[in-house]
Amino acid sequence: MTDFNGLAPEFLQSVRGKRVLVRSDLNVPLDGSRITDDGRIRASVPTIRALADAGARVVVTAHLGRPKGEPDPAYSLAPVAARLGELLGATVAFATDTVGASAQETVAGLGDGEVALLENVRFNAGETSKDDAERGAFADQLAGLADAFVSDGFGVVHRKQASVYDVAQRLPHAMGGLVATEVEVLRRLTVDPERPYVVVLGGSKVSDKLGVIDNLLGKADKLLIGGGMVFTFLKADGLEVGKSLLEDDQLDTVRAYQARAKELGVEIVLPTDIVVADSFGDEASARVVAADAIPADSLGLDIGPESGAAFAAALADARTVFWNGPMGVFEQSAFAEGTRAVAEALTKVDGLSVVGGGDSAAAVRTLGFDEAAFGHISTGGGASLEYLEGKELPGITVLED
Ligand code: ADP
Ligand code: MG
Repeated sequence: MTDFNGLAPEFLQSVRGKRVLVRSDLNVPLDGSRITDDGRIRASVPTIRALADAGARVVVTAHLGRPKGEPDPAYSLAPVAARLGELLGATVAFATDTVGASAQETVAGLGDGEVALLENVRFNAGETSKDDAERGAFADQLAGLADAFVSDGFGVVHRKQASVYDVAQRLPHAMGGLVATEVEVLRRLTVDPERPYVVVLGGSKVSDKLGVIDNLLGKADKLLIGGGMVFTFLKADGLEVGKSLLEDDQLDTVRAYQARAKELGVEIVLPTDIVVADSFGDEASARVVAADAIPADSLGLDIGPESGAAFAAALADARTVFWNGPMGVFEQSAFAEGTRAVAEALTKVDGLSVVGGGDSAAAVRTLGFDEAAFGHISTGGGASLEYLEGKELPGITVLED
């Protein structure tokens, strides 16, 4: 794993007895109240522990899922508080609201070196409001709970939200160790990467990810495409894609990328075989077909074995790899082999291998890979993509002044 960049020593020396608000990314997948992958909680621990060890009264704020700006028990952070406590080996006091009576009481009750977690910050409409005044008013309330702010939720730094952006304008602030580590890795992917540089893209958020192709075409040597994105590429080549995931309005964009790639000498590698099924999730009907022979009444749910081997071969001599998005519906074993082949190839890369994206990171863990075999597993999908697209991240910029 990449070395963890700690908080600045001067900052740590200043926090004893102070209330420090930490924005972490604790947005973990839940099955009811059971946490199915605690990767983001574990990634948040070093900064929280460093602050607690330095004698701060640590007040953690985070979101879970997409509640509609009001309390919703389905998105309570209570199970996360329990898991965070286990990982820290300490009690985590849980406030049942974000800035109300419970939060005030919980924070007031903290001793030096103790940790509290506030209830889901998105239970408050002000958190994600597009209205600066409404967001600001909520940020005032959050800032009222603390003497300093640490931004450590990498998965949200591309969001101009109260607990990410506005609160940093209201309190002395510092970049958390997790955010610092992530930014350093992303910098290595964009500034003078070691070659060959191979980018692997997949997943289901197709239009979200096309933007990154735009920027990386000028930087990478090879682009391997899998997951749901593949079908927009195959269709752009005039092939039948059946009922597969498809973004019809992106066909021209994809054709333009193909043309630019050719000009720049960047190789775009598409799968030559596909695992199809009769309907989404129907494992019993899973079968391998050639990429140019997808039956009209089927849909593609993974890259095939020949493609998995070809992708692995394309990764074999890479010195820098960025991978975002599973190659198939890895949640079901019949459609997980493409993702497994790519993950396996990444573990063998001699150089920097980076996995970005919430589901890709979860895939690596649920398929049983040792996280230490990868150079870096990013906690932020959207944030890393926006950085790689060359966009400014408001939650980072705001820390610079
Ligand atoms: P990440 O979170 O890593 O950025 P995405 O959120 O874009 O990735 O996509 C992850 C999802 O993509 C997974 O749940 C997976 O089941 C789905 N997926 C992968 N391939 C396909 C496909 N061919 N058709 C439909 N969904 C797919
Ligand atoms: Mg995802």
